[in-house]
Amino acid sequence: MRVFKFGGASVKDADGIKNVYDVLQKVGHEDVLVVISAMGKTTNAFEVVIKNYFDKSAELQASIQEVRKYHNQILMDLFDDENHAVFAAVTKIFTDLESFLKNNKSPNYNFVYDQVVSLGEVISTCIVSHYFNHVGLKNQWLDVRELIKTDNTYRDAVVDWEATQKNISKNVKKKTLNITQGFLGSDDNNFTTTLGREGSDYTAAIFAYCLNAESVTIWKDVPGVLNADPRYFENAILLNQISYREAIELAFYGATVIHPKTLQPLQKKEIPLFVKSFVNPLLPGTRVSKGADLEPQTSCFIVKKNQLLISLSSLDFSFIMEENISEIFMLLHKFKIKVTLIQNTAISFSVCVDDKFGNFAELKSVLSKKFHVTYNDNVSLYTIRHFTEKSGDAVAKNKVVLVRQVSRETLQIVTKEA
Ligand code: ASP
Ligand code: MG
Repeated sequence: MRVFKFGGASVKDADGIKNVYDVLQKVGHEDVLVVISAMGKTTNAFEVVIKNYFDKSAELQASIQEVRKYHNQILMDLFDDENHAVFAAVTKIFTDLESFLKNNKSPNYNFVYDQVVSLGEVISTCIVSHYFNHVGLKNQWLDVRELIKTDNTYRDAVVDWEATQKNISKNVKKKTLNITQGFLGSDDNNFTTTLGREGSDYTAAIFAYCLNAESVTIWKDVPGVLNADPRYFENAILLNQISYREAIELAFYGATVIHPKTLQPLQKKEIPLFVKSFVNPLLPGTRVSKGADLEPQTSCFIVKKNQLLISLSSLDFSFIMEENISEIFMLLHKFKIKVTLIQNTAISFSVCVDDKFGNFAELKSVLSKKFHVTYNDNVSLYTIRHFTEKSGDAVAKNKVVLVRQVSRETLQIVTKEA
């Protein structure tokens, strides 16, 4: 069996969905399980709904209607007959949402979040499955919440592999086209859980693992994994082959194409992962598998913008040692600030961090009691895997380099625009 994943961008409108149909015609759809994300930016739109709900905002209804209108347009573009069962099916999802919001008593933001955002995937697969049947591509729609079981860490649920394995073995039909939702699972009480933003790739890996699939393909709007983000680097080139290990390294340094969680289950069973273009589905794309580390052998560039470089020195010139450092890390962890690079000298300690949740001001006031704290905000962290002198110089050109750190295969530079 093969597992395919189509993300939000591939099903963002009626043409996108028709293109998914074309892809399946070209590459085959027998003995396939397709994992689909919410359409376009639906997850973000539902996040607004949830915020309005908790803020008791007057905009609540309008924000729900916006999501509804978006999907309605797609329905009208796909189906001529407004009496087709899909219209009632989608309407029911929205009616259920309204009654959930009306009756919900739980003040738990993360719980409510999962019950609501999950509808994006439920709606998208409902529409795609009906559309495929409508145009003669018979398929089986599966509710992933009856298959992937998790704990109740809402928004970041942990998979119960044993139960999941049992459910998947029992319910996924071989020799047919199965369609299911990415990103979702359910807990012991059958409440919906989610696996973390962008979690649909991980869903594909979970299925592949449990089905002993022959491969996973993630269909994207790019030709595969590139050696650099074309938004920031010229002349990006396509990587043909990446080993699991190299892919995990790249993901660790911030390459966003493949989530590290996705690679783990695949690597365990040596199931190859392909990243291919949904525009040119017959091209080979990138293969992540056992084998050559990187082909072609080339430098890979990863940039993380909008980082903070924090430098701490002791107030009394004492060394910064294990005890201080572990305390600093505990605080970083507590404030959910992610460390992307570390550098220390006898009396100073620098960390480059990603303050996604905007907690630095609070952290700084705590740290200032013990350390002299200085920082540069809005810096960029460049990581070059398999660097050469030339590639390092090219990145540093016209920039002020604040930190430069070299290990055998990796060069990291923290810069400020000159
Ligand atoms: N729809 C979810 C998100 O946008 C999951 C995914 O797209 O992978 O985060
Ligand atoms: Mg998405």
